[in-house]
Amino acid sequence: MTSEKPIVFCDFDGTFSEKDIGHRIFRHFSGGKNLELVRKWKDGLISSRDCLEKEAAMIEVMPDQLYQFIDQFQLREGAVEFYRELKQKDIPFYIISDGADIYIKYMLDKNGLAEIPFFSNRVTIDGNQYRIEFPYDNNGCTRCGSCKGARIQDIVGQNRPGVEIIFIGDGLSDICALPEADTIFARGDLLEFCQAKNINAIEYNNFFDILNKLKESGKLP
Ligand SMILES: [Mg+2]
Ligand SMILES: [Zn+2]
Repeated sequence: MTSEKPIVFCDFDGTFSEKDIGHRIFRHFSGGKNLELVRKWKDGLISSRDCLEKEAAMIEVMPDQLYQFIDQFQLREGAVEFYRELKQKDIPFYIISDGADIYIKYMLDKNGLAEIPFFSNRVTIDGNQYRIEFPYDNNGCTRCGSCKGARIQDIVGQNRPGVEIIFIGDGLSDICALPEADTIFARGDLLEFCQAKNINAIEYNNFFDILNKLKESGKLP
């Protein structure tokens, strides 16, 4: 066991949640019209904030329709067990997301995990209008809606003696978290990004993999 105290930060869409729920909502309720925007965002031509604002403006949905749609999704295998084990070991766990509170809260509540602190963009449904707001200033980042690098800085602070920051993610909205992290778990687009940039990242499929790898490396008791 190393002497550093771990703090775990985890992306939501496609990571803690098996599928990218935010993306699925826009794709489903826009009839696929959002895909061109997503392509531009992935190519770095528009910021995620721009992309999310334009996607939100494309869809109309009533709350009960939205929740019915979200009900098909699940958390990633081992997510609940992973969180419970960290809690039992007194290791802080935060979800940081460039998605939206409306479905993150719903999914956490549904899985008995309402106590997990999360930081994300904010969505309200007004009539059938899906309105997205960006409650955070992002310490100067103009790429993100809610910047994961800025959230880690806000929570941990700049001075980090004895702290081991562990980040778990799957996509391009996770990039700003990478310079803040001591240990990175990646899959999907994030893993490809790390490999292309020679950034050390550990591949995972589910949260049991992550638990095992943290224990093997002595980062978890
Ligand atoms: Mg993601
Ligand atoms: Zn950022």
